[in-house]
Parts: sequence; C-alpha cells; structure tokens
Amino acid sequence: MRILPWLSLLALVACSGTSKVDPLPAQDSAAVKTSAVDTVAVNSVAVDSAALDTVSALDSVKTVKEDSTVSEVSFFAIGDVLFHTPLFKACKEDSSKCNYDYVFAPWKKDIQAADIAAVNQETVFVPRSEGYASYPSFGSPEEVGLAEIEAGFDIVTHATNHTIDRRASAVDYTIDFWTGKSAKALGVHKTQAGQDSVFTLDKNGIRFSFVNFTYGLNGQKLPADRPYLVDLLDSNGHWVEMVRKAEAAAEVTVAFMHFGTEYVELPTAEAMAYAEKAIDAGADILVCAHPHVIEPYGIYTTKAGNRALVYWSLGNFVSNQQDISTNLGGVAKFAVRKVVKGESSRLEVSAATLEGSVTQQEVGNYHAIPLSAYSDSLAEHHLLKTKKPELSLKAFEELFQKNLENASKCNTEDPANGLPLEIVNLSVKQDSAKTAAP
Ligand SMILES: [Zn+2]
Repeated sequence: MRILPWLSLLALVACSGTSKVDPLPAQDSAAVKTSAVDTVAVNSVAVDSAALDTVSALDSVKTVKEDSTVSEVSFFAIGDVLFHTPLFKACKEDSSKCNYDYVFAPWKKDIQAADIAAVNQETVFVPRSEGYASYPSFGSPEEVGLAEIEAGFDIVTHATNHTIDRRASAVDYTIDFWTGKSAKALGVHKTQAGQDSVFTLDKNGIRFSFVNFTYGLNGQKLPADRPYLVDLLDSNGHWVEMVRKAEAAAEVTVAFMHFGTEYVELPTAEAMAYAEKAIDAGADILVCAHPHVIEPYGIYTTKAGNRALVYWSLGNFVSNQQDISTNLGGVAKFAVRKVVKGESSRLEVSAATLEGSVTQQEVGNYHAIPLSAYSDSLAEHHLLKTKKPELSLKAFEELFQKNLENASKCNTEDPANGLPLEIVNLSVKQDSAKTAAP
C-alpha cells in the first residue's frame, strides 16, 4: 500500500481502535435512534473483534501535532470465488478432501494485515446431500466459507447473479452457515427487517456502512413471498434508498456492486449508470465484480459532481475459466483516514492500489498467487498452458498494465493524482442544505 511519506514521521500515542463501538458522530444521531441500525451495530461487534485479534489497531491511530490525531483503516478486497467442478471434485468424492485453505494461502498475510478484508463469494453453499455442482446451477461446499474465515475475511458478498441458482433453500442454508461466524455475509436476508437494516462496522474510530447489490439473478425471479432474499439493483429504486440509509448511518459508505458485462474490459454504460446513482446517493467507495476479467480503477466523478473511489471489476480470484484474462484477478487495497483537529474532523481515502493476482490452475490445487510472485516456471505447471501456450508471466503483466491504462477510457482518474480524496457525508450535506434554505 502506498503510504504518504509524512505519515512515517508521526508518533504513535493512542488507540481508539480498541473501542469496539464508537459513539456516532453528532450528525448521525438521528440514524442511531432507529432500532434497525442499533441491532446491526451490535452484530458488527463480532466481526470487529475477530479482525482485531489479528491486526494491531495500535498502528492505526497516530498524532500529527498535539491537537490533531490521524486514524487509518486499511482494506483488502478480491473478486469472484467461483467454484467450478475441478475445484470441488475431490471433496465431492471424499468428504475428507474439502479443506480449501490452500486457495487463499498465498494472500493470507495480506488479508490478515488489512483491518477489513472482503471476498465476493459468487456461489451459494449447499448441503453435501444435495450435490455440489458447477454452472449453470452452482452449489458449493460450505468448507469454502470455512477457508475464507481461516484466511481472515471479515465481509463476504453474496448478492450475485448465481445467488438463487439452487433456489431459496440454498440461500437460507448459506445464511445459516454464516450466522455466528466471524465474517458477515452481505446481500442475502431471511427477513424483510434484515434487508432493511444497515450493516455498520466501527474500526479505529471510523464508522463504516456496507451494502451489496446484484444487477440480476440470471433470469430467475425471487420468490414472490420473499422479495428480500437477495439485494437487487431493482428498478423501483429500493436499492438507492438503502444506499441513502447506509450513508446516514455511518461516516463512510462502501458499496459492493455485482454488475457489468462478462469478459468486457471496460465498465458498461449500464454499470456506470448504476455507479452514478450509488455515488450520488452517498456511496464513497465502490468495489465491483461480475465481468470475470479485471477492469480499471480510480476516482470517478458523477455528473452531479460527487466523487468516489471505484474498482470497476476485480475479475476472478479463483475459477476454472479458460482464458488468460479470466485467470488474472485484481486485489484492491485502499485505506480511509480520519484527521481530527480540535472540534473538527476530516475523512479521506488516503491510499488506493490494485495488485494483480493469478489463478494458478493445478490438479487438486487451484489457488491464487500475487502477480508480483508469479514466474514462467509456475506458468509451465498451469493447466491452461497446453491450451493457451502464450500463458506466461509476461502475458499476465501486459494484460494488467493494459487495464491500468484503460482508466482514461471510462473517465476514471488515476488515484495517484487524486488522493487524498475527501469523503463527504451526503446525508449531512443534504440536511445542512435544507437547514440553510431561506
Ligand atoms: Zn457474477
């Protein structure tokens, strides 16, 4: 992660990060009165404390001068965990072969070093007795979730186009799996009240809210009596209201969006229209997936002038897809900083990078390796090498570089020029605009 040089001069003196639930800032006092937000804040403690076990919060709160403090929260996020047949075949045949820790192992240090780590779990879990399956009706072993917990993820995004591949019962099964675990599943709900609640997480003195939506469900419909089961980018605008609510409930809003067109290297007009709406409703950071290939990232400014950090697509983290581009994923690393000086405070995105990650396909050992650690000798062992002889370190590097250069084609500004990016709470801005009106 890019650390600004002046930060290294800062002295370490305090630790507000050990406070599990920080009081809401004054502007959020209205939000905390709703019971839904209260309930979720309690839920967030479990996630928060789990992450604190592995990360020293002490590193995140520093003083600049006597009268100002800086606290920072670091993030790690990956794209699709997509379990095709070769990934679960051994487990399907032999229940003792379902440990998937190796999938995430090469990235585990980075996952654990981040204050908050998120993974897009593209497929739902099904009971062993119902049969694990690949496309088009994915159902994966719940041991994938156990490996995600072991790796250190705090947030698992489940609103994808495959969420009801195995009907409502598999969504329920998946929600039950995550209940009580140290990671929070987003985008799926058992009740209307659950969908209407905002998930918030307090970390190092900063309150975050998280939302997750998918553009659709591969043509399938949600059960008429359970429309809350999966968070959709619905045409009636319920999702925009959820973003507004999330913005009012926290200082920083992170939206995980499942949209775009598969195998396309740039965000589509439709995806960009959804992003515009999300940012104008208050999303400060968008982390997106679905196209199975990486797309650019950077700072995006809406027509209304609101700015956000956007990762347009993180591609696949692990899958059995058969192109070089679908075997190159993106790892988003970004940080949010709070500077408190006297009575006033300022929030900003302080760092944002994208790192390459290669899906290494080997029999019984599909895993993701940082592009920086990849080599041609690894490429020789890649199962795709016989079909795609051009698969090499250079091929992955060139593709990664091309993606970075594509940012200007989707009006996305290089973060190196736009950071730090100030985070404005739009609900506060809108409220004060109302108050100021004659
Ligand atoms: Zn998808």
